[in-house]
Amino acid sequence: MQFEKLRLVGFKSFVEPTEFLIEPGLTGVVGPNGCGKSNLVEALRWVMGENSYKNMRASGMDDVIFSGSTHRPARNSAEVTLLLANTEREAPAAFNDADRLEVTRRIEREAGSVYRINSREVRARDVQLLFADASTGSRSPSMVRQGQIGELIAARPSARRQILEEAAGISGLHSRRHEAELR
Ligand code: ATP
Ligand code: MG
Repeated sequence: MQFEKLRLVGFKSFVEPTEFLIEPGLTGVVGPNGCGKSNLVEALRWVMGENSYKNMRASGMDDVIFSGSTHRPARNSAEVTLLLANTEREAPAAFNDADRLEVTRRIEREAGSVYRINSREVRARDVQLLFADASTGSRSPSMVRQGQIGELIAARPSARRQILEEAAGISGLHSRRHEAELR
């Protein structure tokens, strides 16, 4: 599934509604230190269902909400939307008729996150599985954080195996098995 657009409102330093077009081919993001390049990648990871606030360089998930500056008051919510093309019809059955998927995650202060796919409310799990099956996702080896190569080298074998399973596209299966075992 091709990423087409990322839309941010009130997410970290992106207080005003901001849209990024992601066109086929290579996209580079350049800018001075502190302009929000890493925040942008974190927004991508967050909308895909990242549930570790530490991976978001935050001390709690509410920290992803714009916290105010000298000129602007803090916000009480943040929202990130990722638009995906579904031309190859790879989406889960419930959404596979649509040409486009609009995946949204919204957080309100002290109220947690709500996820929607094409305006329909879904579980975090549904969004995580959608991306795990597409071998992308917030923990996928195609999202390389600063410092991650060093972590990979120092990782325990079990952690390294998890990365290889993500790369092989079978981590969605493991998630489903785990979910089935809990029932
Ligand atoms: P570098 O080139 O140094 O890696 P960068 O472009 O990756 O910089 P980021 O780390 O994405 O920059 O952005 C950091 C900026 O985001 C800081 O100015 C920080 O204050 C701001 N920021 C982070 N969280 C929030 C928040 N919740 N509300 C407002 N601003 C925030
Ligand atoms: Mg950075």
